[in-house]
Amino acid sequence: MQSFRRTSHHFLRHASRRLSTACQGSGLKVNANRLWETLHETCQWGAAHRHGENPTDTGMARLTLDDNDARVRRWFAAEVEKLGCSLSIDQMGNMFARQKGKLQTSAPMIAMGSHLDTQPRGGRYDGILGVMAALEVLRTMKENGFQTNYDVGIVNWTNEEGARFPKSMCSSGVWAGAIPIEKAWDLRDIHDSSVTLKSELERHGFLGQIECSHTASPLAAHFELHIEQGPVLQETGRSIGVVQGAQGYRWLTFTVKGRDAHTGTTPLSARQDPLLAASRMIAASNDIAQKHNALASTGIFRIPSNASTNTVASEVSFTLDIRHPQDSVVHAVQEECLQAFSAIAAQDGKGVTFNWTLDTDSPAVKFDQGCLESIQAAAKHLVGPDQWMNISSGAGHDSVYTSHHCPSAMIFVPCRDGVSHHPTEYCSPEHCALGAQTLLEAVVHYDQTKVQNLK
Ligand SMILES: [Zn+2]
Repeated sequence: MQSFRRTSHHFLRHASRRLSTACQGSGLKVNANRLWETLHETCQWGAAHRHGENPTDTGMARLTLDDNDARVRRWFAAEVEKLGCSLSIDQMGNMFARQKGKLQTSAPMIAMGSHLDTQPRGGRYDGILGVMAALEVLRTMKENGFQTNYDVGIVNWTNEEGARFPKSMCSSGVWAGAIPIEKAWDLRDIHDSSVTLKSELERHGFLGQIECSHTASPLAAHFELHIEQGPVLQETGRSIGVVQGAQGYRWLTFTVKGRDAHTGTTPLSARQDPLLAASRMIAASNDIAQKHNALASTGIFRIPSNASTNTVASEVSFTLDIRHPQDSVVHAVQEECLQAFSAIAAQDGKGVTFNWTLDTDSPAVKFDQGCLESIQAAAKHLVGPDQWMNISSGAGHDSVYTSHHCPSAMIFVPCRDGVSHHPTEYCSPEHCALGAQTLLEAVVHYDQTKVQNLK
């Protein structure tokens, strides 16, 4: 709730000034080939799961702080230093590359951030595109002698995926103060509990001196380019998504209790059948979600391990994951499900009982209006009025945590068939370049607006 208020505050602060949203464009053009080649060159570290003939027809398995992640981190450090950036690394191994602006101020930098780690069966674009596009933005600025007013830079966030060390958006979470650093440091490799995230930071020399926090490393803004990881842009024929925020979600677990009974001798009217009731509940949750244009999903369904064909089960449990961009809708879907489940519990035979727990409550996030205006201006300038759309993120990203402490927003580009977290994940060279160009224009627009607002 606290985070929501903070983002509302950003919204009001920006809305109270009349921002000019027209975008003349920076006059710069990113180098599409260089971006494409750099991205795939760095995928040599962690390439896995070949699925086609072309050199780039592989997925990725570059898990947080494994040897390949360390290699790409060292490469990244060398590249940003070549550009004349200063590089600082905090206690979670987050890498902050910073390029001086014209104003020569010590004000926080305008950041472009994402992550270089992948899922074990991941693709070449999730997170990687965001960092490589940010690097291409700085390279383009440098070779054109272009300087922003404020400092700009790149953040490579450690362990976004939470695949090897099981906590997603881990280090932006520590930076935001939402995850205690001791807890993050102590995360264990899921295959080898003797290895911790901290021991791997030490082994590779990425345990920095700087405290991991939004006060030690403040950011003026955080822009993140990411593949959509869903089918909406492709299906609607749009090439840029201006991400308004991330949807809220609640995870619940239901336990439904009945009584074991012989299926041959117990009439339907005499049964207390929890499996039947749970099935009706899951079907009802889907109807309710559809009515609200929300999402409701059951990912886990448990029946007793000693279940048998000719016995009515005694107890079952299932999870329910409810999502919508507005918290009020998430709550309404939950309430209606509870009412419907009560009715269902009394419906068949002698009825069943159920109880439930709330396991996770993640409120919706609304991104910053000022950042969104800069991205929209960039999108309109680059693709005209019909090729971009406002969109909401279905997944979590580092920008969700940065939005608690600095103006943040995201840019989506389409990925083929919405496929992600899979080796065949694909974003075309044109869309990668368009995403990078949008990132560049948004950052330049934001930087210029910030200066105008001083006057
Ligand atoms: Zn990602």
